[in-house]
Amino acid sequence: MVVDPARLEPLFTSDAIAARLDSLAHEIAGTMPSNFVAVAILKGSFIFAADLIRTLTAHSLNPEVDFMTLASYGTGTVSSGTVALLRDVEVEIHGREVLLIDDILDSGRTLAYARRHMHEKGATAVRTCVLLDKTAGRPDAMPPDFAGFRCPPSFVVGYGMDHAHKYRGLPFVAIVKGD
Ligand code: 5GP
Ligand code: MG
Repeated sequence: MVVDPARLEPLFTSDAIAARLDSLAHEIAGTMPSNFVAVAILKGSFIFAADLIRTLTAHSLNPEVDFMTLASYGTGTVSSGTVALLRDVEVEIHGREVLLIDDILDSGRTLAYARRHMHEKGATAVRTCVLLDKTAGRPDAMPPDFAGFRCPPSFVVGYGMDHAHKYRGLPFVAIVKGD
């Protein structure tokens, strides 16, 4: 299925995202120790993670950075409900504090899986940071430790997030209308 660009409705502009990242980095700098491990969950978080990690550096934090690829969506707009680990981290997690970075927290299954995985590897603390918090997807699940924006229960693309592998390069977040 291909989304017509005319069906994209901007939700968060690149200026709004940049301003929020700065305050988010300030919050994170006040909480995380200097030697934490930042684990970005691919693929959707790659642009958010890149910008956030650079902003953290501007706030004098210099985390080790690694990546984990998890999948639950395939090419559709509805989660399959099961999380698959496609690529694991390489850095030593044992005895470390971890900040998981993801694009969206929806049902919470993806971050719950990643959190459990980090604890199994011996992390001493695992915190979560998401760009978008879709609170409607999980009325009774755990909130993220750090969140950029609350997001309506619509399917969104851009700023790293895709629809069937497209639109990741948009510099803003947009709602796919009619979904
Ligand atoms: P959860 O496991 O919390 O239900 O879903 C989180 C994952 O689903 C995120 O990592 C994200 O990749 C994906 N996701 C959830 N909502 C959206 C959306 O509106 N657009 C896109 N592109 N991905 C989404
Ligand atoms: Mg994702």
